Amino acid sequence: MTPSDPPFPTRRAAREEAERRATAAIAIARPEAGRRRSTFEEPGLDAEEPPRDERGPEVPADERGTEPAPLPSRRARREGPRTDLRALVLRRRLAVAAVGAVVIAACAIAVGAAASAGGQDATGQANAAGPEAVASVQGPPAVPAEGLPVPTLAAAPAAATPCDNPTFTAALAAKDDGAAIAAAGGGAAFRDAVASGIAPCVSLNDPTHQWVVVNKQRPYDPVDWRPDDLVMPDGVRALEQSAMRSSAAKALTTLVRAADDAGAGEIGYLSAFRSYATQQETYAGRVAVGGVAAADRESARAGFSEHQSGLAVDIVPCRSSCGSLDDIAGSSQGAWVRDHAWEYGFIVRYVNGQESVSGYEPEAWHLRYIGPELAQAYHDGGYETLEAFFNLPAAPGY
Ligand SMILES: [Zn+2]
Repeated sequence: MTPSDPPFPTRRAAREEAERRATAAIAIARPEAGRRRSTFEEPGLDAEEPPRDERGPEVPADERGTEPAPLPSRRARREGPRTDLRALVLRRRLAVAAVGAVVIAACAIAVGAAASAGGQDATGQANAAGPEAVASVQGPPAVPAEGLPVPTLAAAPAAATPCDNPTFTAALAAKDDGAAIAAAGGGAAFRDAVASGIAPCVSLNDPTHQWVVVNKQRPYDPVDWRPDDLVMPDGVRALEQSAMRSSAAKALTTLVRAADDAGAGEIGYLSAFRSYATQQETYAGRVAVGGVAAADRESARAGFSEHQSGLAVDIVPCRSSCGSLDDIAGSSQGAWVRDHAWEYGFIVRYVNGQESVSGYEPEAWHLRYIGPELAQAYHDGGYETLEAFFNLPAAPGY
């Protein structure tokens, strides 16, 4: 419209005014839609019945304020508003439809949020913001976790066993224990596989491997088995001519040197490998002194001793001369060994409080070589017996 346009006829002016008011009605409806987006207060019913102030434009008295004199005839007053009313109603219905669409969209969003929050609950990772967000929309109740579709997972695939790994089995056959453990994924992975029973190709009875477990329930087979790679450890004071398997002998040399370097003092040893025949004599001597029961608490019967594996050693503290086995527990050497022996592949095999599992009273002097990888897993896992480490039955007696 330009300033030169002629003035509208009265009816046209009224229609323009009605359109303007209808537009205003739509503008009013939009904040309503915004409010309902966050409250969900029965949108359908409420939208069909607009608030009284929205119906204001229908009131003729309101139109009179915009109409110039003279007043229209009664018919004109009746017909004019009626025609404009149709347009107004049409627009209002359009507005209601728009509000409805917004409400439906908001419902969809709210349901999605509720489902999402329920899903988090179902996975045990409830998000603190989830339930709060659902409450704020006051819409449909949150879908309970048990009502959500739970994805059906196929049966968990069997854990991979190192026995299917050609690298692992080749290392086993070659008696290369370090390479086998590496192929299994390290000491902890090897331990897990064996302890869980998924690695039947690994025998804990086989004394040719550093993971052999010997106790009062697990004798050697054959009972007089002996290793074929016995050597004397270099640089270690030996009180008896008692050798060890080469891997254990090298590790003992390293351990003794490290203890000395750390200021813990010299470590010597009394006895390492003992043959089946030697163990018979040892055990018989103990029985002669204290009887069978006492002998069994302190000494193994022939065929059941870790010393026969060539992987065990009884250490003593030394200065100018060496002390006894009983002296190690209270010595600086004994303290260092408790903390650091695992770093060199050894464990203190018989510790306090485990006699019902290991079968022996604590022996602070008796170290057992299981290799650095397994010793670390043993230490890191906080194990106190090899039986627990490999999930084997306790062996309190024969
Ligand atoms: Zn011993």
